[in-house]
Amino acid sequence: MSMTTTAGTSIREQLPAAIYRLEKVTRVYPQKNRRIQALGGVDVEIREGDFVTIQGPTGGGKSTLLQLLGALDRPTSGVVKLGETDLATATNTQLGLVRAREVGFVFQGFNLIPTLTAYENVDMGLEPLGLTAAQRREKVTEALAQVGLADRADHRPGELSGGQQQRVAIARAIAKRPRVLLADEPTGNLDEHMRDEILTLLEGLNRDGLTLIVVTHDSAVARRAHRRLRLEKGSVREL
Ligand code: ADP
Ligand code: MG
Repeated sequence: MSMTTTAGTSIREQLPAAIYRLEKVTRVYPQKNRRIQALGGVDVEIREGDFVTIQGPTGGGKSTLLQLLGALDRPTSGVVKLGETDLATATNTQLGLVRAREVGFVFQGFNLIPTLTAYENVDMGLEPLGLTAAQRREKVTEALAQVGLADRADHRPGELSGGQQQRVAIARAIAKRPRVLLADEPTGNLDEHMRDEILTLLEGLNRDGLTLIVVTHDSAVARRAHRRLRLEKGSVREL
């Protein structure tokens, strides 16, 4: 399945550029006695500025796909282009740079460091970028303001609600000003009220131009997306 068809270039030119182009992507996990095929030939194109959700049953390959998009893993075969870079064949150094600069990750469990303040947790995400202290301070302050937590910079995760903790994690992911935000079940640990708060925040970031790719079980999340994909038994289809 692909967004690109035989449509004329006049139509193509009006659409935003593709940020990701995946072709025949497979990922096989070799096990002792068998091979687990998590992805069985995924073809998909995602456009700059889009808000895409990926739904599907547990074990369907959603997290595997997100890891490939985030340069955390390589496919067994196929092409995973982010812009002009094929993440399947890029060097480890190139993958590291993509993770540091271009991709922000948000997880269900927030993954904050409990002993660090909100400010310090966000600052950690900037470590690989080699910025000056002043540049880091500016980016951390801006990111905390973007998620509405400027006044909580000195709080540790244990002093914040679940929704606030996820907002810190989102600030950490966006502080580097990535091209794309990848989120794996970002509202999975939150009650309905906090889920809506996070969704509203994500929608605002998307309106400001950030491409969003969100894995979710929650159809309330998917309803807010511009485009819904379903990943089942390693294959993607459009919903
Ligand atoms: P989802 O996120 O949709 O639940 P996953 O991508 O986590 O799906 O998993 C897809 C399939 O790949 C499952 O069968 C899972 O058990 C398997 N799998 C995922 N990660 C690994 C791994 N690191 N090693 C072996 N098998 C894995
Ligand atoms: Mg998963």
